[in-house]
Amino acid sequence: MITEKIAIVRCFDYSKDKIRNAIEKIFNLLQPDFSSGILLKPNMLSARSPEQSVTTHPIVLEVLSEMLPRPVYIGDSPPNTQKSIEYYWETCGYKEVAVKTDAELVKLEGKSTVFNLGIAGRNVSFPVSDFALSKPIFNLPKFKTHNITVLTVAMKNLYGLIPGYPKGLLHTQFPEPEMFNHFVVEMYRVLEKRVVFNLVDAIEIMDGNGPASGSKRYYGYLIAGKNAVCVDLVCTVCAGLKISQVPFLRIYESLYGIPEIEIVGDSPEIMKDFRPPSSSAIFKMQNNLVFSKALRKIANQLNIIPVINHNVCMKCFECYRVCPVKAISNDLKIDRKKCINCLCCFEVCPHRAIEVKKSFLAKIILP
Ligand code: SF4
Ligand code: SF4
Repeated sequence: MITEKIAIVRCFDYSKDKIRNAIEKIFNLLQPDFSSGILLKPNMLSARSPEQSVTTHPIVLEVLSEMLPRPVYIGDSPPNTQKSIEYYWETCGYKEVAVKTDAELVKLEGKSTVFNLGIAGRNVSFPVSDFALSKPIFNLPKFKTHNITVLTVAMKNLYGLIPGYPKGLLHTQFPEPEMFNHFVVEMYRVLEKRVVFNLVDAIEIMDGNGPASGSKRYYGYLIAGKNAVCVDLVCTVCAGLKISQVPFLRIYESLYGIPEIEIVGDSPEIMKDFRPPSSSAIFKMQNNLVFSKALRKIANQLNIIPVINHNVCMKCFECYRVCPVKAISNDLKIDRKKCINCLCCFEVCPHRAIEVKKSFLAKIILP
């Protein structure tokens, strides 16, 4: 079996010198070979400032834009909202990177190619940006939790290559978390050959109810490698989690196996108090074969559900616009019968006004 090298390098903060030194160390350890015309693909989930730890820090992109052969492109496609992509670039700090380094900001919402997959007996079609498909991709995820995938790091970050609103619509084809995680696995296998490198911003990370409203915490590393599955597995171990607790890795391992990993660089401490998202307790229970048949029948009742806190809500209507099944009314009430618990509303709310809570049944069954 092939052994994949994954580099873990200490990087205490986002000062440019430290980031540059850490990336140079990673490149020395792994000796990647880069051609020109690379697309840097950060996590630009939401229009947030870098301090909020929702998006990949712009200094990482700035240093890479200076180090890699020209031209360098920067692009990601956030879930569709009424805000312009220029507003995202500005708020996330990527516009400043482009101005300083001559990197070109690109929109991934233009032409796309549709891929067709059969997943557990269901056919699914999904578009991928033609621009992204035409370039070598340098994947730059942020280390965060996610209420459907438990962790979102390298593999899940490629979901941003699906342009805008169809991302939300895909959830309607996979309302069950298990199926969505299976989709993440198969989507990765379609795109993996186009990814030339993965580098995780794990300096300031997010635990709890990520990917946008969890708790920021400090870790202080960059984690990198060619193979996104192995990068994600190393991040899982750093978080003190097991493969069985991260659904897409569990599915990947059972279907395709995970290569041997050799860690190079520094020896990070395992986080003892990393808080997985609220949903992970439910996933753990659903994995229990004794319960699985019964649970499948009541899946919609045993879940994590979004709840709008109207005292905090600023009535920006981003949640209303992003909902793929129109479950949110124009007076911002969620119709539980229509809601498929995709949590797109929770992800896009810029004011942390949407909380996730255990459903009535989950509260009874789970501690
Ligand atoms: S209300 Fe929120 S969680 Fe429910 S379907 Fe709409 S976007 Fe998804
Ligand atoms: S819940 Fe959040 S996204 Fe929805 S209208 Fe209120 S502030 Fe905006």
